[in-house]
Parts: sequence; C-alpha cells; structure tokens
Amino acid sequence: TDPADYVREAIRSVPDWPKPGVTFRDITPVLQDPRAFRVLIDIFVYRYMRHRLDLVAGIDARGFILGAVLAYELNLGFVPVRKKGKLPFRTVAEEYTLEYGNAAVEMHTDSVRPGQRVLLIDDLIATGGTMVAASKLLQRLGANVIEAAAIIELPYLGGSTALRDTGLPLYTVCSFN
Ligand code: 5GP
Repeated sequence: TDPADYVREAIRSVPDWPKPGVTFRDITPVLQDPRAFRVLIDIFVYRYMRHRLDLVAGIDARGFILGAVLAYELNLGFVPVRKKGKLPFRTVAEEYTLEYGNAAVEMHTDSVRPGQRVLLIDDLIATGGTMVAASKLLQRLGANVIEAAAIIELPYLGGSTALRDTGLPLYTVCSFN
C-alpha cells in the first residue's frame, strides 16, 4: 500500500463529536500503532530532509507530538506555538476568530531568530484559522516560514485554500471530504 493510504486508514472517524453533525478525525490510533506512526513520520522526514530547515514549529497540542518527533529526526530544534497564557517568558500573541468567539496563539519572543527557515506543523487543517494565525506570528518574529504541514486537510472547510492564498505552501498527507 501507498504510505499515505496506510496512514489514512489508521485515522478513526468519530461521528457527532464534539457536537452533532461534526465528524472528528482522530489521529490517536495512528500514534498508537508503531508502524503507522513510523510511516507517518517518515513521510514528513523524506519530504523535509532536503529543505535545509532550521526549526520545526508545532501547534498546541497534537502538533507538538508530530513536530517534536520530526524535529528530532531531522536534527532540528523544536518550538511550540501555544494557546494563550501557557508560556512563562516574554511572549507575542496572534488572535483569530473561531465559530463562536476568539482564540489566540502565543510564542516566546526569542523562539525564532530573523531569517530562520521554519516548518509549521499541526495534525489537521479545517478552516485554516489556527494555521494562518500561527504563520502570521512566526512571520512577525522574522521567521522564513517555508511550508505548513498537516496529516489531514478538510477541503470543504476551505482552510487549505485560504492558507495557500496567503502564499504559504501547504502539504498534507491525506484529506477527507
Ligand atoms: P482550524 O483552525 O483550521 O479551523 O482548526 C484546526 C485546529 O483544530 C487544529 O489545531 C486541529 O487540531 C483542530 N481540529 C479541528 N477539527 C479537528 C478534527 O476533526 N480532528 C482533529 N484531530 N483535530 C481537529
């Protein structure tokens, strides 16, 4: 089988979660299965090994799991893009709108040096709000954001198009319609 199909088949779809009518794409079975986990990380390793990256930035919280393993494997540093209020040192925040209300992502001001080549990673892109806010934050810190990556895209929510429209390339392993 195609490695991407192997990963896709390990993703669990949970109907009506977190609310009726929504199908949650659960990646925990991918992480739990040692072969699926390795196939997934290796897809990213082979894609990014020649990108001459400096850092991987992972989005709270599932992006931490993927980003940290990938950074370690590529011999890169890892920096967290956290939900607001978690980081202890000097921070910068970027707000974005959710379906109901607002949210913000936050980073330490010294987490990226200007010009560093950064890969942004999360598990899934839905409306794109989180990824767009995180990439803006990285750019405000002077990062050269090379690409955004996720396991899953949900094309019907428009986030993948919105992100690509900002000029940032997006790579995803699979999609669900
Ligand atoms: P967006 O900002 O693109 O609308 O939502 C993406 C964020 O919400 C990501 O951080 C992602 O982890 C989370 N998310 C939204 N829907 C799902 C889903 O069905 N499965 C998973 N694993 N994460 C989701």
